[in-house]
Amino acid sequence: MYKKLCPKCHQPSFSSSDIDRWICPVCNFDLTRVSSKDAEARKATKPHLFIIKNSYLQENPTLNTKIKSYEYQSFD
Ligand SMILES: [Zn+2]
Repeated sequence: MYKKLCPKCHQPSFSSSDIDRWICPVCNFDLTRVSSKDAEARKATKPHLFIIKNSYLQENPTLNTKIKSYEYQSFD
């Protein structure tokens, strides 16, 4: 399911495909060139958050580099 927000009337419209010609059902504005958002994949864009014990992190320096690319919080 794809979602596009009409820049003219600001109403969202939904379609199962973003390849076909896409016309706003509200104001008939041509949305074909407007970039779509995958409505079902929106949750997956949230960053990963790890809660990790600070001392455990210091004892395991290899773990530190492993989780570097993720967003995490440490506690004492
Ligand atoms: Zn519209």
